[in-house]
Amino acid sequence: MNGGPLLGAHMSISGGLGKALLRGSDLGCNTIQMFTKNASQWRERYLEESEIAEFKEVRKKVKINPVISHSSYLINLASADDELYEKSIDAMLHEMQRCELLGVNYLVIHPGSHRGRGEEYGIKKIVQALDGIHERTKGYRVKITLEITAGQGTTLGYRLEQIARIMNEVVESSRLAFCLDTCHAFAAGYELRTVEGYEELLREIEEMIGMDKLKVIHVNDSKKDLGSRIDRHENIGKGMIGKKPFQWIMSDERLKDIPKILETPGFGKDLEKDRVNFDLLRSFVRL
Ligand code: ZN
Ligand code: MN
Ligand code: MN
Repeated sequence: MNGGPLLGAHMSISGGLGKALLRGSDLGCNTIQMFTKNASQWRERYLEESEIAEFKEVRKKVKINPVISHSSYLINLASADDELYEKSIDAMLHEMQRCELLGVNYLVIHPGSHRGRGEEYGIKKIVQALDGIHERTKGYRVKITLEITAGQGTTLGYRLEQIARIMNEVVESSRLAFCLDTCHAFAAGYELRTVEGYEELLREIEEMIGMDKLKVIHVNDSKKDLGSRIDRHENIGKGMIGKKPFQWIMSDERLKDIPKILETPGFGKDLEKDRVNFDLLRSFVRL
């Protein structure tokens, strides 16, 4: 899809990091998202020189740009437990290092969960953690990209105001970006099924965060209803959001250059898993 909008999916790294690029290329992606390690384990992954070289070589061949990484689900930069907090910061530093070595452009992270200590407390911890991480990764090009969340439990980042506050309070805020996840935003209470609601959401992003900060869009339908604050992704058009908002997103001139990444359950296995959602989204493009 040369010249078309940036469209990709979260790709498996099974068999090696370079495989994620090849899988994406086979599907027709010009951008992808991947993990750089097993995202549900603390165990770190150290990259071999050969693995880095291979990744870069494959990337040149398949022309996938930007490359996005999603950080481990275990990381909680709002944790009140000192041990878990330090462990989370350490894990983020490893994520940053791997991204930098591979030339990954954006590292998506869920801001964090305060686990009962309150939103004010949580936001302060997140800002402090991000400042510390930036301090220890001077000169890195990879940008930490804060994702809007569904607001499940005591999770932070389900209001744009919270993301905006974190961005404003972090010292090196120019090193931060924003990721809009349609499923999360909808579950958090942002009505994007009406033209008015969709426009209001974009206006709020523009006013509170800035369009220039919006660097990744996760395109997912939602199994759960508006304001449910439950994070359950659904295939495009099969959930509570429906097809229309995705048609708007895919044809919105303002979002043309922002990578759109599928994180949907999909249909079938392996490469075929994302085919239906990918082709459907591509058919929505009217630019
Ligand atoms: Zn996420
Ligand atoms: Mn997401
Ligand atoms: Mn999610």
